[in-house]
Amino acid sequence: MGAVYDLCIKKGTIVNADRKVKANVYIKNGRIDAITAEEDIPAARVINAEGRLVLPGFVDPHTHLNDPPGGDVSETFLTGTRSAAAGGVTTCIEMPLTTPVVSTAKAFIDKRAICGPKAVVDFAMFGACVPGNQDEIQKMLAHGAVAFKAFTPFSIEIPRLDDASMLKAMESLGREQVTLSIHCENADMITSLTEELQAQGRVKPGDYQDAHPLISELEAVQRVALMAYKTGARVHVVHCSCPEAVDVVSYYRSLGADLTVETCPHYLTLNEKDVERWGVYCICNPPIRDQSVQDELWKRVLEGKLDCIGTDHSAYLHTEKAEGKDNIFKTPAGITAMQLCYPLFFDEAVNKRGMSVEQFVSMSSTAAAKRYDIYPKKGLIDVGADADVVIFDPKAQWVVENKKLFYLEKWTPHVGRTVTGRVDETIVRGKSVYRDGEILAEGGYGCFVPALR
Ligand SMILES: [Zn+2]
Repeated sequence: MGAVYDLCIKKGTIVNADRKVKANVYIKNGRIDAITAEEDIPAARVINAEGRLVLPGFVDPHTHLNDPPGGDVSETFLTGTRSAAAGGVTTCIEMPLTTPVVSTAKAFIDKRAICGPKAVVDFAMFGACVPGNQDEIQKMLAHGAVAFKAFTPFSIEIPRLDDASMLKAMESLGREQVTLSIHCENADMITSLTEELQAQGRVKPGDYQDAHPLISELEAVQRVALMAYKTGARVHVVHCSCPEAVDVVSYYRSLGADLTVETCPHYLTLNEKDVERWGVYCICNPPIRDQSVQDELWKRVLEGKLDCIGTDHSAYLHTEKAEGKDNIFKTPAGITAMQLCYPLFFDEAVNKRGMSVEQFVSMSSTAAAKRYDIYPKKGLIDVGADADVVIFDPKAQWVVENKKLFYLEKWTPHVGRTVTGRVDETIVRGKSVYRDGEILAEGGYGCFVPALR
């Protein structure tokens, strides 16, 4: 008799957001077909996961792969999703800040066609929510957009929403129960502080966060949280670096607002000393905060007040980053994180701070899959779900090296860091896309994942 199953993952500890169990996972035609104590059902390939964790893949709710690019090519959908595979990411949810900005159905369809043939892991897509594109939002929804992205501050890539437009957008997306994800910083404060600091000649890396103070983030989060509460909209606060903003989210949530919040590895692992040391390579928006702020953010993460971890991977070439070497405000804001976020967060949260592996799975997979309407196809290990799995060794120690990164431009402010916990193998729909340092899938294996609504 031939093999009944394509793949069996044996003897590992299977972890979901609400439970963990030692069992065997049987996979057929890209999906999980059985989870059972039975060990001897024939399978074409068997992975012995004894002593390792069997986790639903990382659903990255915040990916910028800059493809199609505006100017220089700093990452492509191929290099970005290869690093995703190596970093345990099985689904990237790609942001709309590419060129042209994805604010129309045409841009959405064109981008999907450009990215699809390069994708090594699965991907879903945001559309942009900009002033006056409500009709286009409807069309993008019909083409499978999982959510929309809006900005309160000015950005060179995407027109911001003023308060009136934000309110309108929440009213209309709220009616359809579609998530609106918002970059929250106060436009006026940042703009005038950025000018002031430069006029004073305060243009060093350490000056950057003074142009993006905590109150700027806190005020914007409070404003959108209030609007979310009053409109009933589904609102997600992206890349939160501010502990008090998390408290604001918790408060409005206690009143019944449909609010969620994510943070990123850089806000939990980098501080003012790294900004001093790495300069332009530690510049992002919101900025890296001081260690005392990070400590407060960690408290809230461990208390379960944040929903997801997102990479906010945003790569730039050394030449682009160097534009800020004499004036930090001239450097493009963004940090690479795709390949390292998952193991770094595991090490810092689970190994060093005692977070449960279930909460780690919730934050790295389940919550984002739910928020972006691709659950229960993605975001869990269960019968019927896509066989997206990370085989993770929680005790393996390794050192971050630039040459092992799959990014187009291989840099990270974490170089030299010792990490405990390693992605051994990443499986997308039953196929291994990464194993032991090697990428095993070609561009085009990854599929576009439309919203399941
Ligand atoms: Zn971002």
